[in-house]
Amino acid sequence: MAEKELGEQIDALAELIVKSRRIVVFTGAGISTESGIPDFRSPGGIWSRFDPNDFTYQQFLHSEGGRKRHWQLLKEMGEMMAVTEPNPAHHAIAELQKLGKLDCIITQNVDGFHQRAGNSEDKVIQLHGSMSWVQCLSCGKRHSMDEILEWLKQGIEVPRCVECRGILKPEVVFFGEAMPVGETMEAERRSRNCDLCIVVGSSLVVYPAAFMPMYALQSGAKLAIINEGATDMDGVAHVRIYGKAGEVLSQVMPRVRERLRWGE
Ligand code: NAD
Repeated sequence: MAEKELGEQIDALAELIVKSRRIVVFTGAGISTESGIPDFRSPGGIWSRFDPNDFTYQQFLHSEGGRKRHWQLLKEMGEMMAVTEPNPAHHAIAELQKLGKLDCIITQNVDGFHQRAGNSEDKVIQLHGSMSWVQCLSCGKRHSMDEILEWLKQGIEVPRCVECRGILKPEVVFFGEAMPVGETMEAERRSRNCDLCIVVGSSLVVYPAAFMPMYALQSGAKLAIINEGATDMDGVAHVRIYGKAGEVLSQVMPRVRERLRWGE
């Protein structure tokens, strides 16, 4: 994107934010890559090292080998999340809440970075769950992911419930698993009711999550997309910024503050 055009798009997004009252921010794995957590589909992303077909809910449920593979990937991701921090993009979105502009964040991410950046729990809808907790599929006992990561570090390859030896599964939505009904319905309701939807770091190919920006647009909201790669909704966005989320939002927020100061 040419420098001048980028500046214009950043201005346009700042203006949209100032004029809006109920902003929904829709985030995907791309918002956390500047923190050091790879996304799935970019070059060098997780799917360049692992085969996505090996990571379905059905494989996890029905074979010890499937569970072992899942836990190898989960260990890697859990350890990465423990040593990384929210980046300027997460902090910019936390600032939208402080400014009273944010209706909610609808995230596909499981890293909990929005809450760690300062967004309150009730403002974050986690469509694909969270990496913080692990639940026994037999008796329902919950274990913290920190505890399970310790077991994995000690060499346990497939952790089992301490109470009943049942299968332990992190509270994240696996490929092929049903989405949480409450969160999905609430995300749709909020998307249909917002006046601006900002997509940050999502390729918009994972459904039904990617329906949310569409619902917003259909209901009359403005749509802005900040993403490095192309998305299917690029042609219908009111503002489209190709760039790194942290770098872009670090330039947007000062312009928002400035406009609000001058009462524009
Ligand atoms: P994706 O991998 O399909 O796409 C990520 C998009 O982000 C790509 O289009 C890429 O061009 C863009 N991107 C990468 N770095 C960026 C940056 N710094 N700034 C702006 N854009 C950037 O991810 P997805 O659409 O979110 O879907 C994949 C699924 O993977 C999600 O369901 C999510 O649950 C899961 N996931 C989560 C995490 C996490 O919690 N951090 C990490 C990996 C995958």
